[in-house]
Amino acid sequence: MEVNCRECAGCCIDWRPIAPAASEHERRGLESPLDDRYNMVPLTRDDIRTMLDVGYGDAMRPRLWTAAGEDRETVEIDDRDIVAMNGRPLYMIGLRQVSKPVTPFGTEPRWLRTCSFLDPQTLQCRIHEQSAYPTTCAAYPGQHLAMDVETECERVEAAFGGDRLVDDDPPEELPPAPFGREALGWTVFAHPEPDRLTGMIERIAADGMTTDDRAEFVGMAAGHSPGTLTINPAAVESATSTVRETTSWVGRAIKAWRRRAGNEESSPADAAIVEETRGAPATSGWTGDASHSC
Ligand code: SF4
Repeated sequence: MEVNCRECAGCCIDWRPIAPAASEHERRGLESPLDDRYNMVPLTRDDIRTMLDVGYGDAMRPRLWTAAGEDRETVEIDDRDIVAMNGRPLYMIGLRQVSKPVTPFGTEPRWLRTCSFLDPQTLQCRIHEQSAYPTTCAAYPGQHLAMDVETECERVEAAFGGDRLVDDDPPEELPPAPFGREALGWTVFAHPEPDRLTGMIERIAADGMTTDDRAEFVGMAAGHSPGTLTINPAAVESATSTVRETTSWVGRAIKAWRRRAGNEESSPADAAIVEETRGAPATSGWTGDASHSC
């Protein structure tokens, strides 16, 4: 399939503040997310392990969901009903986000929350085609089209004009749907010890997660076996330590962006100082035809 991504990145930015109408379209998962993030891609268990191996252990964070009523199994933690299976809270792992100055769709520079890996200057992904490039990102927007779900490309076209989705035939080979029947241990994980999560659920809801909180969920997901509730304790221990010890350019840049947040003199070009001097890989920029195949 073919998409025109120049000046877009609508799938990597929380562009709700400049959208014509309120939307929960890309707040994905099983029920209502406990966090307020938009466009957070679900990582597969193998994506998580690759992220850990290549030094991005501090780039990941969990998402849990809350549900009301009796249609869903839930477990109560920190006075919230968390979606669960067999008494185990369910969650996904996504990428951390931070506000950066960006100019999507040809708009004026503005602070919007984006994926940590988005280069705000070129609006390209810093890990595109690298081993850590998430399966869900590689399958976008084909996976949405195959499931008959509106894509961010179409939503951006409707809001800002232009032709984003050039060829809308989804590829024949796509990974399993992140929240479908095969999701357990693939993109949805079950935490076996809910009592350990006391306090963490409140911090996640309040956007105050600690490194240890992230390590708890990422580590458990890395040790999860696909299709079952089985956990490999040695893999969990190793992954948890890796998250605690990792300090990549992503984590350092998040802190630096937070210190600058809202500064009206900041521009997308600041990424050279904030991200690239801390080790972020450069992106290629746009030349010639902006369309590319996904
Ligand atoms: S990893 Fe890259 S493509 Fe995926 S959401 Fe982040 S910036 Fe976008």
